[in-house]
Amino acid sequence: MSQSFDVCIRGAGIVGRTLALLLAQLRLRVGLVQAPQALATAQDVRAYAINAASRAVLESVRCWPAGAAVTPVQRMRVFGDAGGEVNFAAEQADKEALTWIVDVPALEAALANALQFAPSVTVLDSPQPAALTVVCEGKNSITRAEFGVEFDSTPYGQTAVAARLECAFAHQQQAFQWFSGGDILGLLPLSDAQGGNSVALVWSVSDERSQHLCKLEPEDFVKELQSACLLQGEPALGAMTLRSERVRWPLVEALARRWTGQIGFGNPAQTWALAGDAAHAVHPLAGQGLNLGLADVAELSQVLGSRATTDYWRSVGDLRLLRRYERARRAALAPVGAVMDGLQRLFALDEPTVQSLRNLGMKGFERSGPVKNWVTRQAMGT
Ligand SMILES: Cc1cc2nc3c(=O)[nH]c(=O)nc-3n(C[C@H](O)[C@H](O)[C@H](O)COP(=O)(O)OP(=O)(O)OC[C@H]3O[C@@H](n4cnc5c(N)ncnc54)[C@H](O)[C@@H]3O)c2cc1C
Repeated sequence: MSQSFDVCIRGAGIVGRTLALLLAQLRLRVGLVQAPQALATAQDVRAYAINAASRAVLESVRCWPAGAAVTPVQRMRVFGDAGGEVNFAAEQADKEALTWIVDVPALEAALANALQFAPSVTVLDSPQPAALTVVCEGKNSITRAEFGVEFDSTPYGQTAVAARLECAFAHQQQAFQWFSGGDILGLLPLSDAQGGNSVALVWSVSDERSQHLCKLEPEDFVKELQSACLLQGEPALGAMTLRSERVRWPLVEALARRWTGQIGFGNPAQTWALAGDAAHAVHPLAGQGLNLGLADVAELSQVLGSRATTDYWRSVGDLRLLRRYERARRAALAPVGAVMDGLQRLFALDEPTVQSLRNLGMKGFERSGPVKNWVTRQAMGT
């Protein structure tokens, strides 16, 4: 069968769109399959923490959003449930910012706009044959299931409640996180006309509590929220006002057993690879999910790009190339997944001994110098 595309990308989320733009730079003919209308989601209330490595990827495809859509984080304050506290500062790490908080709709718009200027990318309504199919359909991918790939998925028993709020006090480009009784509450700073009083909330709580929080009247929701984000006994950012709807995201830890493979035995051969949440899902507590997905597509495009120099005899769907991608990304993912999972489980245990040990651990970590610096660099993607 003649193939009009070198690569067919299924799923036009941030990972799929970024990959399409990276592959267009390699002069590959790309088909990008958009979700059927039923799967298309409403405007996202979230803002993502994007690290330096992901920023470089997005800049390389000219999709780093401009102006107020990006807020640099100068300081990150993490509080345990019994006095533990860890602080990270950009200044200490000798960096311009620890991470950047990026408005999700603005990032999606930048990618959609860039695709209009990528003539070798064709947006499709349904999959087309190609030497390589890359599945970027997110964690509930149908194509991954069609390819017979097992996806080991464990629910955390938690749901994240995401929303935007305005606060009485300016956040001063600080991000905050509280671990308490298994709940994990994050406030991410956003730029706004008031000069920095808006935040994006990610509050990971039990599934039942998330339903309760979303049913509350806005004022009652805000009261519960303020009592959960205390700094020296007072709401960290003062009185808050809800400025968006509240959206729930059930959380799972998941990993695909295979990331690459062949479709049947046709000639020419067709192969597939997974990227982004279709390959792995982690807890949002350290804001790493999309960063991992962007690192996947950067690696995949680098591996495919090697055909221009060292691997010029290999086709774009060559399984050896794809396995190189799979090995590199699995190795990079393993420690991140283990840390996210370990932290979530550690703070979910409510025995008093564990509670005092983990808070002691936080204090020890705060004073640990080189260890803390290493962890900071890993999270920053530097
Ligand atoms: C509350 C919360 C906060 C988060 N915060 C951060 C953060 O701060 N930093 C960070 O790095 N990560 C964060 N993440 C993780 C991040 O959201 C995901 O890792 C990221 O969205 C994965 O992108 P993706 O493109 O792989 O998948 P998705 O975003 O799920 O996109 C998949 C796309 O494929 C489409 N699709 C699905 N099925 C089909 C089909 N059959 N055909 C065609 N298209 C299809 C979907 O409609 C969608 O457009 C957070 C996650 C949550 C839940």
